[in-house]
Amino acid sequence: DRTEKAPLEASEISISFGGLKAVDAVSLSVVPGEVHGLIGPNGSGKTTTLNVICGFNTASEGAVRIGSDLLAGGVPQEAAAKGIARTFQTPKVVGEATVLQNVLIGAQSPSTGFVSAALGLPAQRQDERAMRERGMVALRTVGLDAFADLSCERLQHSELRFLEIARALMMEPRFLLLDEPAAGLSRDEIERLDELIAHLARDAGIGVLMVEHHADLIFKVCDRITVLNFGAVLASGTADEVRTNKEVQNAYLGT
Ligand code: ADP
Repeated sequence: DRTEKAPLEASEISISFGGLKAVDAVSLSVVPGEVHGLIGPNGSGKTTTLNVICGFNTASEGAVRIGSDLLAGGVPQEAAAKGIARTFQTPKVVGEATVLQNVLIGAQSPSTGFVSAALGLPAQRQDERAMRERGMVALRTVGLDAFADLSCERLQHSELRFLEIARALMMEPRFLLLDEPAAGLSRDEIERLDELIAHLARDAGIGVLMVEHHADLIFKVCDRITVLNFGAVLASGTADEVRTNKEVQNAYLGT
């Protein structure tokens, strides 16, 4: 099916804040079933690039497409409706709610929600039991099903990171944008994350775009990597090409 294989493409996207060009003509392509790493020093424009792709920020130039489908941009609901989900650097959860309830927040069918909002209709009714089952599957996928009925306040920071991924999965995304998913995780947890990301890409066919600082994780799990420096693409290619690139080593890897 052509739509399922269509890549998510950012073409020459740029955005400035005041006089600062935070993202400068960045192009990258995320292929379904592959993991694409976005790396670079602090302030190099990684999160802003994610924000443009998922409609949180509006690019002043360039375009985001899925296959030939051009996104209007600047509208998170549009990106969500087209199958782009994301997680945040700081997990966003409702503390008093249970783990399962937090996952179900991600379950409002984004396309339905979008159309309903546009037409002023009440949101489509969901079959509660079916939703609960889907939520449990998402929790099982990330290894949190045993905690479904616990209050989120009882979870550790690292568990909240996995919870965010479960919530994003409820959208059945074609593309998943992860902003520093390994931040604050232990070695063992990073290994679990690594396996989860590989599973989501290889087995579920999701295209993953991941901002990450842990070089180990990046080079192990990513098929392709784009390196940003001062808002612009310094290098891109396969993990091996990027790892051995002299400019990347000088600017970023410090080797
Ligand atoms: P990274 O994720 O690589 O650390 P960011 O994308 O967060 O980098 O930021 C890129 C640059 O844009 C930084 O200089 C940052 O200070 C600036 N920036 C990001 N968001 C905003 C904003 N909303 N307003 C002003 N400046 C911003």
